[in-house]
Amino acid sequence: ATYVYRFGGGVSDGGKGDKNLLGGKGANLAEMASIGLPVPPGFTISTAMCTRYYEEGERFPDSLRAEVAAGIAHIEGITGKRFGDAADPLLVSVRSGARVSMPGMMDTVLNLGLNDETVLGLAQAADDERFAWDSYRRFIQMYADVVLELDHGAFEEALEIAKEDNGFTLDTELSADHLKALVVEYKRLVEKAWGKPFPQDVHDQLWGAVGAVFGSWQSERAKVYRRLNDIPADWGTAVNVQAMVFGNMGDTSATGVAFTRDPSKGDRAYYGEFLINAQGEDVVAGIRTPQYLTRAAREEAGAKPASMEEAMPEVYGELAAVFDTLETHYRDMQDIEFTVERTKLWMLQTRSGKRTAKAALKIAVDMANEGLISHREAIARVDPAALDQLLHPTLDPSAPRDVIARGLPASPGAASGAVVFDADTAERWSADGRAVILVRTETSPEDIHGMHAARGILTARGGMTSHAAVVARGMGRPCVSGAGSIAISARDKVMRVGGREVREGETLTIDGATGEVMAGEVATVQPELAGDFATLMVWADEVRRLKVRANAETPGDCRTAREFGAEGVGLCRTEHMFFDAARITAVRQMILASDEKGRRVALDKLLPEQRSDFVSIFEVMAGLPVTIRLLDPPLHEFLPHEETEFAEVATAAGVDIDTLKRRANELHEFNPMLGHRGCRLGVTYPEIYEMQARAIFEAAIDVAEKSGAAPIPEVMIPLVATKRELDLMKAVVDRAAQAVFGERGRTVEYLVGTMIELPRAALKAGEIAATGEFFSFGTNDLTQTTLGVSRDDASRFLGAYVEQGIYPKDPFVSLDIDGVGELVELAAERGRKTRPDIKLGICGEHGGDPASIAFCEKVGLDYVSASPYRVPIARLAAAQAAL
Ligand code: ADP
Ligand code: MG
Ligand code: MG
Repeated sequence: ATYVYRFGGGVSDGGKGDKNLLGGKGANLAEMASIGLPVPPGFTISTAMCTRYYEEGERFPDSLRAEVAAGIAHIEGITGKRFGDAADPLLVSVRSGARVSMPGMMDTVLNLGLNDETVLGLAQAADDERFAWDSYRRFIQMYADVVLELDHGAFEEALEIAKEDNGFTLDTELSADHLKALVVEYKRLVEKAWGKPFPQDVHDQLWGAVGAVFGSWQSERAKVYRRLNDIPADWGTAVNVQAMVFGNMGDTSATGVAFTRDPSKGDRAYYGEFLINAQGEDVVAGIRTPQYLTRAAREEAGAKPASMEEAMPEVYGELAAVFDTLETHYRDMQDIEFTVERTKLWMLQTRSGKRTAKAALKIAVDMANEGLISHREAIARVDPAALDQLLHPTLDPSAPRDVIARGLPASPGAASGAVVFDADTAERWSADGRAVILVRTETSPEDIHGMHAARGILTARGGMTSHAAVVARGMGRPCVSGAGSIAISARDKVMRVGGREVREGETLTIDGATGEVMAGEVATVQPELAGDFATLMVWADEVRRLKVRANAETPGDCRTAREFGAEGVGLCRTEHMFFDAARITAVRQMILASDEKGRRVALDKLLPEQRSDFVSIFEVMAGLPVTIRLLDPPLHEFLPHEETEFAEVATAAGVDIDTLKRRANELHEFNPMLGHRGCRLGVTYPEIYEMQARAIFEAAIDVAEKSGAAPIPEVMIPLVATKRELDLMKAVVDRAAQAVFGERGRTVEYLVGTMIELPRAALKAGEIAATGEFFSFGTNDLTQTTLGVSRDDASRFLGAYVEQGIYPKDPFVSLDIDGVGELVELAAERGRKTRPDIKLGICGEHGGDPASIAFCEKVGLDYVSASPYRVPIARLAAAQAAL
């Protein structure tokens, strides 16, 4: 097998289709080289090598030596320089690159191939001593950090001391002699910490770095990231070895990162940052404040230092042309890394740019309108889950705010929470249910778990392309970066800004859209749903087959759901209506009654209340189906739980406290989830369901008479296991309907059906469908009952289960397609066999989960039902499932 793929100098062994083999970076370097863009030559060691490396006990096959030697020869042939040559050495970078970009992987090592001899050759060949020693000290520092894994603090300190001793603030002020001295110090630090001198043999350097890249695939950071992002461990990473080009060769050299469109708002404008006389990570590391790419961006920010467009107009022009070439070629917004070496432009990376949900939406719609992609592609381009960011509240513009600092609007959305200064605390507090804002000087891959746990992220340093900004955008967390006026002491757990102190635990609000940082909590407003969002939704609606309904039980929820495009209510839970302070007394009277007569007295009080609930819901949902689930929870839930409440409740309900306590005791269940609930209530107390059914039909006729738009009630019986249960309950509902229709002298259309939420019901779906006119898969309970796992108790072990791959994802979030899914499929099939036109839907939490929605499309359900805010997500996911 071949493991080495070359690129550059007119050769490209791979291309953009080879991401699995070459990693994203390697595949795109080869692709850029093949379309004639200026790419420094190099080669990629494939991900297959990574897999083999681990299979064979973390060692390389001998054959790889020759392949790598040929790869180096390829670079030497094009550059005319030789690796390890003391007179004019070839230097390379060693870069990791998995299929998807992955923080946690080994950081890039630049300037590899420098040693005490070649540094002199480099100085001579470049005619720049300072540059050569700057490159060497960077190399030692990086190699010590990422390959030898020595503590980088000592190196940074040595650099700081060198600057301080000379009264400098910037690295660029250090002269060749200063840097030479620094190299001596760095080598001393390496030997002290590593026990061996810094490797002088350039081949040892190379193999050390290659080994470190493969080794980093199993680092803790990489594993955490893979777990959070569902990346399989067997993908492996590739290694890219590439000729160095130098952005640190003086004032005609530079390095930068750019996006072909604004990754935050999505506007069609080049967007990026660069630094003159700098190398590699300087831009994102926040060492110096980067300069803007375009003049327009600089002016808008009111910044002084010249933009690239102004400082290097010619190279900028070339770069802009490359942007356009790349966008047309890849048909997507690109995230680019480039370096200018003495006015010559070099491309070092391109990939589809990470973007906020807002930008993803705008770019997809714009590109479709520009004719670059089709409507269907536009639909596929937007991650439904990311829409969440757009559908959530932003800061109320009219709410008072106490702005204490400003930074860059790095990732949109507003968030309030308790300030924490380290990732572990963020994770702990958030696990306790607290909203936290993670505040760091800057973030690094070690902070990922804390960033994930936090509602928002605030950093004092770093630009729009800093680690914090990029990761936060990817995660959909609001982020303000580079709020330079904030001084943070993580050790003392305090931040200081403008003479004020904010301690750990105090509340801050950040606005990732404006970059504002505010003391305390600030009120929020609902999002804007017009424009690009509406356009994409129209396109999505054109292709989707699944209908999308909402789980809603108040007129307010129903209105939100309709605004978000819901085509009905898939689950209206009636029990929540009983908790209302005004009604709970009547509910309790009903529960406490000793016979049917007593219960009916109480139910008569509830009837008008329940009717008015349905009237207001039907009014909002006029003309649309509304699935109403009759009472489901155990009655015990309606009785007081606190000793202190008993007296008050007894008085209100007109019974003595002992009766109340006795009844509460009687109702106590060892396992209420499997107890006296669902249709079991209706079987034992049919008058309850009768009252609810009556309320539904009276309300339906009221609304039909008033507005002319009759609702279509679908009366749903919960927790059915047998046909007989449904027969009995349907009879109760039908009787109520006939009674009301007789009294009112008119009828409305309605259906009676059931939830399928017990394995027995799924198995017997063929029989049950003889009575039930629709099935709604209650996948929350169906998951609990099929897995034998109580959702409320699962948190203790479910994490370990997911981690160890027992379930690929939390089965309460994303449907267990293998197991629960099989029951759904089987029930759908058996149900349809009995009743070909049976209506099938899903109303569990899964109805808003894109992967579960794709499954619902596959088995041909008629609709999914999701919480109102997830309706747009479901519409888009349903469209993608139909593509
Ligand atoms: P990451 O995946 O973290 O972005 P990269 O491998 O892209 O890491 O390297 C980071 C930076 O290092 C690049 O953006 C570029 O500035 C610099 N770099 C990498 N390889 C080279 C090279 N051959 N010549 C010059 N700079 C390089
Ligand atoms: Mg990169
Ligand atoms: Mg249920």
